[in-house]
Amino acid sequence: MSIRFHDSRLRTVVELDTRDPGRVAMYVCGPTVYNLIHIGNARTFLWFDFIRQYFEYRGLQVTYVMNYTDVDDRIIERAKVEGSTTDAVTEKYTRAFEDDMAALGVTPADVLSRATDHIGEMVKAIEGLIERGVAYATDGDVFYSVEKFPSYGKLSGRSLEDMRAGDRVNPHEGKKHPLDFALWKAAKEGEPSWPSPWGPGRPGWHIECSVMSTTYLGTGFDIHGGASDLIFPHHENEIAQAEALADTEPFVRHWMHAGLVQMESVKMSKSLGNVVLAREVVAAYPGEVARYWALTGSYRTQLSFSDEALADAAQGYERWSTFLAAAKHALGPDMPPAPQHLHRPEGADGLVGPGAEYIGRFIDAMDDDFNSSEAFAVVHELVREANRRIEPAQRGETEDREVLSSLAEAFTEMTTMMGFHFGPTESPKLVDDLVQYLLELRDTARSEKEFERADAIRSRLAAMGVAIEDTAAGTRWRITPVPKESG
Ligand SMILES: [Zn+2]
Repeated sequence: MSIRFHDSRLRTVVELDTRDPGRVAMYVCGPTVYNLIHIGNARTFLWFDFIRQYFEYRGLQVTYVMNYTDVDDRIIERAKVEGSTTDAVTEKYTRAFEDDMAALGVTPADVLSRATDHIGEMVKAIEGLIERGVAYATDGDVFYSVEKFPSYGKLSGRSLEDMRAGDRVNPHEGKKHPLDFALWKAAKEGEPSWPSPWGPGRPGWHIECSVMSTTYLGTGFDIHGGASDLIFPHHENEIAQAEALADTEPFVRHWMHAGLVQMESVKMSKSLGNVVLAREVVAAYPGEVARYWALTGSYRTQLSFSDEALADAAQGYERWSTFLAAAKHALGPDMPPAPQHLHRPEGADGLVGPGAEYIGRFIDAMDDDFNSSEAFAVVHELVREANRRIEPAQRGETEDREVLSSLAEAFTEMTTMMGFHFGPTESPKLVDDLVQYLLELRDTARSEKEFERADAIRSRLAAMGVAIEDTAAGTRWRITPVPKESG
């Protein structure tokens, strides 16, 4: 097996080479829980979840850790604005985040780590950095001294001089160098604080992530991911902290960064105020359509958000779900069951039948830096071929039934791997019977030329999300992911 992907520190495509054979230890920077996430944030989490699922599909055992930054200046400000406490703010937005992720079909990380549960380890790490001479305390604050870490800048590829000239840096009275960053911040009146050797205060954001990732995964773990706007300074600072502390290199074997989402070619960001919330999208479209949109473009590219892009995704998703319903109808009891266990450590080796070729191409695409555009194209190509077999299969042509069955099986495997489940495909028998009964009533109405009554049944069913289609071989029906009514 060889999964290749772009390592952002090495700036080239590398082969996945894990610390422990057969296992992947990955950490992704989670949200600062002070407001609702926008669709750009959501895309990053969707993508890393997808990558994790793909590793599992390829037979790797994954430990996936994500953090919640639940102590931060923005949380303190938010609590003031909402006239609330910081605990209430973090609780509220952690739950909101989890709801949004569930609506998008994201599987929670194996470990969801809250910064406030690890303050003791952070204090210990800061003490270690002071002992090693790379950090210094001043008036209750502690700063990291970037000049003491010779390879500072290796992730973002910039030297201290470049950064000093090119970036907004915050001069601070106690800092020795303008790029020195806070490891510990002395508490101001009324702020949440924890005891420390430097007085009451709270950790800086960067130390939270390097401490939590190594607490759960050890040093030299496999993949550290996040959105590309975290490369500098957040991830640069994580490296400086962790590597100065551990005496070993590297802190992380591979860095992976997801592209941002743009609104009309402007980066979507809270500070620019041009955000579309994840929950606004899942209120307007089924979660699976949003997922389809987010995964169609490679994780490294900037993805544009627009109503047209979402409408295209809805159309693509609809083609898939229409095919699945038609194949089920045509094959009846010969429809292959949904895969219970998705596992292809050997790729498509040993697979036979018309579906095997598509699975092979799907795996080749995904092994190649998670090339989802190509993977989606493979599924669409399969659907085009399979659609040609529907009518003859329905008539009972043996060869067509066999080909369709093999293609349907491959289709279900690939789309399940991608996290698409096509609504309640297995509806309870009672629902099947009731829909069947209504269709019989409609047939009777039509045969009696009571077309108004027949149409009323059709539109009531459509309003409930049951689409019906009259074909030469009878009426087919399926449950559809209709766009929801807005506002
Ligand atoms: Zn982080």
